[in-house]
Amino acid sequence: MIILMKENSEKRHINNVLNFLKQKNVDVFCREDTGKSVILTKGNSYHIDTGMLRAMEGVLDVKRLSEPCHKVLRSEHPEDTVVRVGKAAAGGGSFMFIAGPCTIESEKQLNEVADEITDITDVLRGGAFKPRTSPYTFQGLGEEAIGYLTDLKESTGIPVVTEIMDTSQLDLFENVDMIQIGAKNMQNYELLKAVGRCDKPVLLKRGSTNTIQELLLSAEYIASEGNDQIILCERGIRSFETSTRCTLDISAVPVLKSKTHLPVIVDPSHATGNSKMVRPMALAAAVAGADGIMIEVHNRPWEALCDGVQSMTPDEYRKLVRAVKEILPYRYRY
Ligand code: PEP
Ligand code: MN
Repeated sequence: MIILMKENSEKRHINNVLNFLKQKNVDVFCREDTGKSVILTKGNSYHIDTGMLRAMEGVLDVKRLSEPCHKVLRSEHPEDTVVRVGKAAAGGGSFMFIAGPCTIESEKQLNEVADEITDITDVLRGGAFKPRTSPYTFQGLGEEAIGYLTDLKESTGIPVVTEIMDTSQLDLFENVDMIQIGAKNMQNYELLKAVGRCDKPVLLKRGSTNTIQELLLSAEYIASEGNDQIILCERGIRSFETSTRCTLDISAVPVLKSKTHLPVIVDPSHATGNSKMVRPMALAAAVAGADGIMIEVHNRPWEALCDGVQSMTPDEYRKLVRAVKEILPYRYRY
């Protein structure tokens, strides 16, 4: 971290900054030159609040040279973290296929989709609590749907993932294998802390208007509570482009893979909003070095209560899995 003092700043202002850093156990190097002082910190400074420093008298500017977190950073933990969900794994060379309906609409619908794809899927997804933009659209079956999902897990053995929306729902997730934090809750800090205290993998989706640094900090919230079983998911961000539901930030894969040891997967369904674009984007994600993909699949997309346009049929998904497996040996490795 570099702290640049204003020209001819008073000695007491410089000392105030030095004392502030000392109290935070940060070693400093201070150079006073031609009336402009520069303070450099040595070692970790992730716990320093740059806003507080900037507000101090005599401070002109503060620049961070590293991310304001540490547990999730590759610089602190060079080896890939491998997140295991049931027998499946993401990271460290393992690729995870997560698929299933956007929303669990009924036990029959869930089982029909599952029947067609469990043999080619590592983790089955299905929304029970749905964070819908409009309160008048289908909100999900809630607890009832979690029951269908865990029954399915018991009868087939496939691990399951579903989204939590509030800390009060945690008890219902006891038999769920992985807890999803959706894009809309990426910065729900109480929820992040609560799943951080759980002994279960967490699938953390990037908010559509959030930076990569904010995603890493949200993951740090989970990790700082003791849970480092975190999979990050790029799912498209808001841009000026209207041809797709969101803009898939495929470059988030190399950025994240270089910055963090956590596995990174891609959701091309919510990113594109169009089932015809899911295949090329899923292949791009695999080539870019993602550790998995999450795909929405519906047995009758034209009848889906949510996200039918972006849902693949089981047959389309099966062909996609085959194509991804073919290119996996050529994917970029970090
Ligand atoms: C989902 O995966 O079910 C979902 C709601 O996606 P997102 O949180 O990325 O919008
Ligand atoms: Mn969806």
